Amino acid sequence: MLTLTFLGVGSAFAKRNYQSNALIEAWRTSPDEQPEPDDTLLIDFGCTGPVALHALHQKPDFAYLGSGGVTNYAKIRRLFVTHQHADHIGGIEELAFNNTFVHPDSDRPFKPQIISSINILINLWDTSLKGGMSPMPGKYALLQDYFFILALRPTGGGFESFNMLKRYEFEIFPTDHIQIERKYDWPSYGLTIRDTQTGESVFYSGDSRFDFDAYRERMTAARMCFHDVQFVDHESNVHATIGELRTMPDDIKKKTTLYHYPDDWDAPEHAFVSDEFAGFAAAQKRYVLFA
Ligand SMILES: [Zn+2]
Ligand SMILES: [Zn+2]
Repeated sequence: MLTLTFLGVGSAFAKRNYQSNALIEAWRTSPDEQPEPDDTLLIDFGCTGPVALHALHQKPDFAYLGSGGVTNYAKIRRLFVTHQHADHIGGIEELAFNNTFVHPDSDRPFKPQIISSINILINLWDTSLKGGMSPMPGKYALLQDYFFILALRPTGGGFESFNMLKRYEFEIFPTDHIQIERKYDWPSYGLTIRDTQTGESVFYSGDSRFDFDAYRERMTAARMCFHDVQFVDHESNVHATIGELRTMPDDIKKKTTLYHYPDDWDAPEHAFVSDEFAGFAAAQKRYVLFA
């Protein structure tokens, strides 16, 4: 079984539901039969990630993520980074420092795996993490001092994929999030997650402007879709607007859960979302992606 639990479902500026980061848990059986999954992966870990994870491990179903009242970061085996905005990477320093210097269940540091496209990983260290994480007592550290690095390289048609438990395949695709001069020139990725045993798949947009033409095939094939959303139509949008998402075919909308939403999501004018779409994503609730 593969499950997805949003640490949070809010936008970058949300104060009610934490930012949109997700925990993927891979189980050889199911949560009913084992208290703890066989593998864990975070999709992004932003500024509110540490507080959201602390709230999550207080819940009985996620107690394995805590130890003595604090988060046991070593339970997060892997981290995938979609792009460099702070609502997706702002918690990484805390995660890395805890694994290196504070480890409640072990006398040794823990090195999780960090996964992204090779261009994001280079930029992530050089332009985001290095300032705080390079200085260490007695030396200057590098990304590989904190993480085992899995850099996904471009292939002919896309990028290398990675997997969990050898069964669940994660394929990344570029998203149209911020255009500096042209589409895809600032790296940002979404995910298609596939159960190689059944052929079923799930679509996860990451942060993306509306680009249904690019996603049509993936979203049509998927059994569930998760798409980011913004409510207000700006001159330079960086997410799909709710108006644009409403133009998708009904069968796609019915299986699409919206996340990365602002704090006024439950205002009466957004009531139509639960009828037209699979609804707004719920924070800290396990979604079964593949049984
Ligand atoms: Zn974001
Ligand atoms: Zn973003």
